[in-house]
Amino acid sequence: MNSLILLDKLYKTQSLSLDEYKFLVENFSAENADYASTLAVKKRKEFYGNSVFIRGLIEISNICKNDCYYCGIRCSNRKADRYRLTKEDILSCCEVGFSLGFRTFVMQGGEDPYFSDEVMCDIVSSIKEKYPDCAVTLSLGERSKESYQKLFDAGADRYLLRHETADSCHYAKLHPENLNLENRMDCLKNLRKIGFQVGCGFMVGSPYQSGEHLAKDLKFIEEFKPDMCGIGPFIPHKDTPFKDFSAGSAELTCYLLSIVRLIHPSVLLPATTALGTLKENGREKGILAGANVVMPNLSPESTRAKYELYNNKLSTGAESANGLEALRKNLKAIGYEIVESRGDVKK
Ligand code: SAM
Repeated sequence: MNSLILLDKLYKTQSLSLDEYKFLVENFSAENADYASTLAVKKRKEFYGNSVFIRGLIEISNICKNDCYYCGIRCSNRKADRYRLTKEDILSCCEVGFSLGFRTFVMQGGEDPYFSDEVMCDIVSSIKEKYPDCAVTLSLGERSKESYQKLFDAGADRYLLRHETADSCHYAKLHPENLNLENRMDCLKNLRKIGFQVGCGFMVGSPYQSGEHLAKDLKFIEEFKPDMCGIGPFIPHKDTPFKDFSAGSAELTCYLLSIVRLIHPSVLLPATTALGTLKENGREKGILAGANVVMPNLSPESTRAKYELYNNKLSTGAESANGLEALRKNLKAIGYEIVESRGDVKK
């Protein structure tokens, strides 16, 4: 096998075998990554030109009933300084975001039981009432099908739920026993059936991850065809069981962004905060690898540092008018333009 030939094949057919994906991942090199990004950018331009979509991220709570071994807001972390936003807080984040030009609001949080269906539906419908031309994205973890249906009926448009890894044994190494891959996948299927634009995704370089695991992630993305896909490097958090593991590679993350763009050319692909945290100009590097979404933080300044999923998480930047201008300028310098629109997936 030859990586450049495989990348050409992927460009033409959007499909490879599991072994071929494994070969691509295991033979990662600067040369292959360069070639992959050239093809990925070409593909992305066919669908999205040089537009980059912005999403206003609102981190609504760092209270979580789950205990994922990698995550800084896991329930066993007694050192986390817990908070949750009120409906009023969230609406004022949207107000600031709307005036800055955001037309998608992403509410993300730990699995905080306070945000019941009733509470969440009220928040979603209030946002949609006030901002009917905006999309609402939720990223609140695993819920029942009935719950997802209620959130959809209240007006939510999109749901992000990373699958984290498509290998069930690897999944079990990252999560406690009460969480399993089967349920995660069922949640993703339910979200799709209900009519959400659905996002999955995984961490790059998570503990115990192998080339084969990443190949399975890529095959899953090829088969599931998510509307969005969140891919960021694993970064250790000092108060978790994975504190002594090394961070994933920013370069491998960019290579995988390019491959995902080739698998699924119209996918909405964020250049993640984790990539920006790990690498200087990481977000720009992600865009140059084939990403087309950035998710600046609209959370109140007082809580931003508390949503600490991993060490040194970026919590400044494009959330203010000045920050957004800086991001706009940086992206313009590399040939891209931030657009003020909902930025739905092109079908
Ligand atoms: N509770 C929701 C869920 O589980 O989907 C949303 C919040 S969760 C904190 C969002 C994402 O953060 C996870 O899907 C995970 O991939 C990522 N994350 C958590 N800890 C991380 C770490 N140490 N390094 C990189 N990403 C991490």
